[in-house]
Amino acid sequence: PMISMGDVIQLLPDHVANQIAAGEVVQRPASVVKELIENAVDAKANSISLIIKDAGRTLIQVSDDGAGMSVTDLRMAFERHATSKIRTTEDIFSIQTKGFRGEALASIAAVAQVDAVSKRDQDEVATRLIIEGGEVRDQVPRAARTGTSISVKNLFYNVPARRNFLKSNQIELKHIQDEFLRVALAHEAIEFNFYHNDSELYVLKKGNLKQRIIQVFGRKIEPQLVPVAEETEIVSVKGFVGKPESAKKARGEQYFFVNNRFIKNNYLHKAIVDAFEHLLPNQYVPSYFLFLEIDPSKIDINIHPTKTEIKFEDEYAIYAVLRAAVKHALGQYNITPSLDFDQ
Ligand code: ADP
Ligand code: MG
Repeated sequence: PMISMGDVIQLLPDHVANQIAAGEVVQRPASVVKELIENAVDAKANSISLIIKDAGRTLIQVSDDGAGMSVTDLRMAFERHATSKIRTTEDIFSIQTKGFRGEALASIAAVAQVDAVSKRDQDEVATRLIIEGGEVRDQVPRAARTGTSISVKNLFYNVPARRNFLKSNQIELKHIQDEFLRVALAHEAIEFNFYHNDSELYVLKKGNLKQRIIQVFGRKIEPQLVPVAEETEIVSVKGFVGKPESAKKARGEQYFFVNNRFIKNNYLHKAIVDAFEHLLPNQYVPSYFLFLEIDPSKIDINIHPTKTEIKFEDEYAIYAVLRAAVKHALGQYNITPSLDFDQ
């Protein structure tokens, strides 16, 4: 092509584009934890372990016993917009996996030092790939078990501004813990381990949802759990709400999952609060662990790279089912309004 004098536009080199894109996907260590654990879930792991050091600043390692990757795929996995999960835009509307954007690994590798090891069942040896700031440094065969282990070291080592924006270790660890629990609660059939600076934070065995909730929040929560189950044509709802007496004045254990993906939605939160009408004093928030199953073609999860927001085709219908389901559950447990509260 002819370059005429005065033309100024150029395509950015990949590593620069990836580093800019990383700003959206990788906000803090917890974002890395979320993406790596979700990839392990998508790879159909039975067991996932998370090891972090210094609240994720120096090390985030996620190991799984899932499907693993071929030599070529391991390299491809770190390219931008490279994914095995969708082929066409239509696929997004029937999505069953957590990921589909093909952006996470490329973004993470652009702003950290990554050491990835992966092996499929049919391969004799594993492959180890080392990438720093988006540049491949080494790719060698290595002995390892089937599955994938990805270590992300020194996050934001090449983006000092980002690094300086990180909060205290305590706050960063809390964010990591939140992301970890959001995945672990939705996948009770997967075993999870979580270690921070060599101390064990969670060891979660396989079980049912109730057992998973108890393992995470302790035995004391068990008598507080009221089962919710409702099925309509547009949505099925299952899970638990906490009894009114376990409600707290601040937000605590409020978990919504749509098709097993954690989401935040104030309108659906209001459906629960409305179902507790007259059961709680003002400003008290009930705890809940609710799983909605909705036809993927009726929702849009493609709003933000971190995908915690969601759009429903018929939001009011879902609100109504949810509120009715919770009211029904509370009614069955003979939890009815008491006259003690001044509303
Ligand atoms: P996405 O999850 O949106 O597809 P990612 O950048 O997170 O994008 O991952 C890119 C690809 O790398 C995935 O589509 C998948 O094929 C592969 N991959 C990533 N992590 C794993 C893993 N733990 N096990 C097996 N394959 C993986
Ligand atoms: Mg992913």
